[in-house]
Amino acid sequence: MKSDIKALEQRVLSALSDNQNLEHPLYDVLNELWQYNQSQWARIEQMIRVSDSYQDMIIQREKTLGERFDKHLRQLEKITRISDRYQTALREANLELEQASYMDALTGLPNRRKMLRRLKTEYEMRPESLCLAMIDIDHFKQINDEFGHLIGDDVLVSVGNLIEHTVGELGHIARWGGEEFLVIFSQVEEQEVERCLEQLTRVIRDARFDSGDDVRIRTSISVGKSHYQQGDTIDSLITRADNALYRAKNTGRDRVVFD
Ligand code: GH3
Ligand code: MG
Ligand code: MG
Repeated sequence: MKSDIKALEQRVLSALSDNQNLEHPLYDVLNELWQYNQSQWARIEQMIRVSDSYQDMIIQREKTLGERFDKHLRQLEKITRISDRYQTALREANLELEQASYMDALTGLPNRRKMLRRLKTEYEMRPESLCLAMIDIDHFKQINDEFGHLIGDDVLVSVGNLIEHTVGELGHIARWGGEEFLVIFSQVEEQEVERCLEQLTRVIRDARFDSGDDVRIRTSISVGKSHYQQGDTIDSLITRADNALYRAKNTGRDRVVFD
């Protein structure tokens, strides 16, 4: 169809350029029609050009928007990843902090704070099966005086380890303060608790601790034990264990006193 128009245009052009046709009555009409046709073509071509460049512009804009969107998406993903990592690190730091706040820095044992929490839980669940042992190293000051505070620290740590090891699954131990330890026994037969505490005093009595030179350090512990009685509170249980410990000290040390 297009080639027909081309051929027709050729014919019109050659007719218009033929001087013999100048005098033809339809020459002017044909010429005017030709001019009109040409100007219409020019307009159509211009419209096509405008439309093409408009489409180019739209495509370019979409591309730019797409690229920008991708970039923002990537940035967002990066921020999310950083934020996730930060939150994980924060959670871990919090956990470490919480654990540290419940742990005695020297011995690595649970501290008094942790022990009070455990005591509260045990007391709320089954107070009647609660049994406490307050343990204090005998004449510990002499060890510090004779061998120095650092060796004293080592002995303290070793005694803590021995208590923990000897008590084993029967109870929970904590460093209660200074050179004192507290053990909670829960749901353990009274006789078994007593047997365990007697064994504990033997273990410490028989142990020899490193002094840094040839001298081996010997020590002993005094233990006060309290068992739940009707009407006991956590405080009264601790106080009775303390009183029993006091009696152990006053009756020669290196022994267990039961309340
Ligand atoms: P007792 O048999 O009456 O218990 O005598 P003791 O010497 O053990 O008792 P006292 O309470 O007079 O002294 C306890 C000592 O324990 C005093 C203190 O300097 C020492 N002590 C407490 N905590 C630590 C510690 O973390 N490291 C060292 N090296 N010594 C400590
Ligand atoms: Mg002491
Ligand atoms: Mg003491």
